[in-house]
Order: sequence, then C-alpha cells, then structure tokens
Amino acid sequence: MLSCTTKSLSFVRNLSIHEYQSKGLLKSFGVDTMIGEPAATPAEAERKAKEVLANGSGKLVVKSQIHAGGRGVGVFKSGFKGGVKLAESAKEAGELASKMLNEVLVTKQTGPDGRLVRTVYLEDAAPVKREMYLAILMDRGFGGPVIVASTEGGVDIETVAHTNPNAILKFPVDINAGMSTEQAMDIARGLKFEEKSVPQAADQIQKLYNVFIETDATQVEINPFAETTEGKAICLDAKFNFDDNAEYRQADIFEMRDPLEEDPFELEAMKHDLNWVTLDGNVGCVVNGAGLAMATLDYMTLAGGKPANFLDLGGGVNQKTAQEALRLVSKNPNTKLMFINIFGGIVSTAMVARALLEAIKVVKIDVPLVIRLDGTDCIEARKILKESGLKYTEATSFEDGINKCVAMAKNL
Ligand code: GDP
Ligand code: MN
Repeated sequence: MLSCTTKSLSFVRNLSIHEYQSKGLLKSFGVDTMIGEPAATPAEAERKAKEVLANGSGKLVVKSQIHAGGRGVGVFKSGFKGGVKLAESAKEAGELASKMLNEVLVTKQTGPDGRLVRTVYLEDAAPVKREMYLAILMDRGFGGPVIVASTEGGVDIETVAHTNPNAILKFPVDINAGMSTEQAMDIARGLKFEEKSVPQAADQIQKLYNVFIETDATQVEINPFAETTEGKAICLDAKFNFDDNAEYRQADIFEMRDPLEEDPFELEAMKHDLNWVTLDGNVGCVVNGAGLAMATLDYMTLAGGKPANFLDLGGGVNQKTAQEALRLVSKNPNTKLMFINIFGGIVSTAMVARALLEAIKVVKIDVPLVIRLDGTDCIEARKILKESGLKYTEATSFEDGINKCVAMAKNL
C-alpha cells in the first residue's frame, strides 16, 4: 500500500524501453555493448543468430525481452527455466527462442502473472571475468545524479544492499560541472579494475553518464556491468527509465514506448490527461485533485478499506473528464464499490454534480456508489443529486464517506 501511494506521489510515469533498444541507445553514445539483433519468431531468431555468430565470438546469449529484470533466474509458465540462455549454434538459438517466444515469463519483478515474451534478443556472448553493478539515478537526497557502483553485480542489488551494504558505493555528481575524468577513474578503481584497465572503464562510465543526461533519463541501471577476460569494461544488461516530462524533446526515445508492456488502465487514463495507478483493492476512487486523491487512499486504508485505484480528475471537472474517469473505474473488474470524493475549492460542486449526472447517463455504473460533494455550492450540489433519481449513498463529509465505503465494502 505504502509503495502504491508513494508511486503516485510524483506523477512521473518514467517510460521504460526494451533491453535491445537500450543497447542501441548506448551504442549511439559510444558505450560498448556486444553486437546483437532482436527477433519475433523462432525462424527469425535462427536467421539473426547466424548473422551474429558470423560477426561475433562464436557463442550467443538468447535473451527474453520484457520490461522487467530477474529474467536469468526467471521461470516460464510452461515450466521452462531461464529467460536468458547461452547457445552454441544458430539452431540451438532458434530452439531456445521457440521456448521463450509467446510464453509467459515469471520473475521476481513481474509478479505472479508474469509477462508475455514477444521478442528475443540474440546477442554475441561476452567472455566474462567478473560481474559488477553500475547505476546512475536522480537522487532526491543528493539533489542530483548519483552513481551507484558495486563489485557485487549480476545479482539482485536489493539483496546486496541488505546483506552487504558496504559493498555499495555512491558517487554524487555535480550536474553543472558534469562527470570529471578523475571522478570516473575513482569509480573504476572503486569497482576494482586493474590500473591498466582504469582509463577504458572510466571512459565507459563517463559516456554512460552522458547518455543519462542527454536522454533525460531518471535511471540507467547496468547489471551486470562486466569485465571481460581481456580486462575490458562492457555493459551486458541495460535498463533505462526516462522522465515523462521530457517527452517533447525526446521524441525518438518515446517512439520506442511499448504499450503492450504498460498497464492498459494507465495508458487509457493518459490519453484523457487523467492520472491513474492500479491498486489491489476493491473500492474504485474518483477524486478531484492529487492531494485529496492521496489522502483518500491513505484514509481508506487506515480505516480498513482497500482502494482499487488512484485517480485524479484534476481541478476543473467537466462532463468529459468525469465520463472518462467513471468509464475507467467501472471497467476495472476489481471495482466492487465506487467512491466519488469531490471537494470544490475553485470549482463549483453544483457544476460537478451536473457533470457527474450527464456522465452517468453515458457510462453505466453497476456497483454501489458513495458520493461526497463538499465545498463551494455543496448544498445546491447535493440537492441536484438527490432530485435526480440517481441511486447512491450520500456522504456529508470526507470521514462519513470513508466510513460508509468501509462498512459497505464489508458486506460485498
Ligand atoms: P536479468 O536476469 O533480467 O537481469 O538479465 P541479464 O541481462 O542481467 O542476464 C542475466 C545473466 O546472464 C547475467 O548476470 C550474466 O551472468 C549472464 N549473461 C548475460 N549476458 C551474458 C554474456 O554476454 N556472456 C556471459 N558469459 N554471460 C552473460
Ligand atoms: Mn540484469
């Protein structure tokens, strides 16, 4: 619950892209990754594998492309183990691809539903000596970018943070000055590169920082950041998130959005300029204003209820936004009760009441409805609702609304 509300705090949705796309981006900034090709069918995978083998080292990695980590140790619903596998021939790569494509991969990060694999990435396998961790993220505490580095890579970094926190190094970067060569060398030494390898590793780290800044990323995570048997630093995995507010100047990156990987409700809401986050409860919430929406979730949870979503209608509620909001909440199969919680500060609740009634004519609502209209013109607003013939439970205050929802939800 806490994480859900925190998630909606900033309203940054942080676009994600696939690993193969991330690697394309890295290459364009001079960051070293192995050569590779994506494929959508086993036949295509075998063909692409041949190409990669012809130009590469003679071994391949077949990697399931989903917007979630932990693929290496993930398990397919078919029972097949491993979303990242080594292959020695194009034929083997094709066979592995047929076990991954159109199958659902469950990892620590996907949740029990898993994710359908629609693309695999055929990548030249690197000769790995050791696996490290390197991430660049915007950090509130430092008020700028921070490099997180650890020699304990390839594994779940949360586990390392828990069992061996000293193994995680943090390097704040002055965003105005950028990353100096000295700082990049410090990081490389922190990652225990041998002195002769430090300049190349530092150069890679500096370039990674440049990608992060130039693409308006909120996070770049390279796990593993590896050292090859020749002592060269290379990125074996790449996970990016980008600031959605930067969409207007990062058109090429936002073209890579994969709607199939995103929450359909969130996408639908985005189309109508509404903010939505799917939660795991059963009370659908329609609220005006982000602050009140957050408070509604917290209050309901404290009172023993379970919100099914976060939804902020925005300040100026009109018939169109009301309609889209009600449509979304009704469409959610988990909504068993709906709570409309509107406080009119600038907006007249009488106007909101009329907009709601018009919207309800278009959107059929077949769950019990609790409505609280408070603030500007609320006497008139409540009268409008009462005289409309609409079936609903009236709440006269925020508290009253919460209590009624929680009591009604108990009897569902
Ligand atoms: P994740 O499990 O979703 O994080 O996927 P990764 O891309 O990190 O791959 C999982 C693991 O596969 C890595 O930690 C490596 O151990 C291994 N791996 C990935 N690429 C290569 C490669 O090119 N060479 C070798 N030897 N191992 C690799
Ligand atoms: Mn990884």
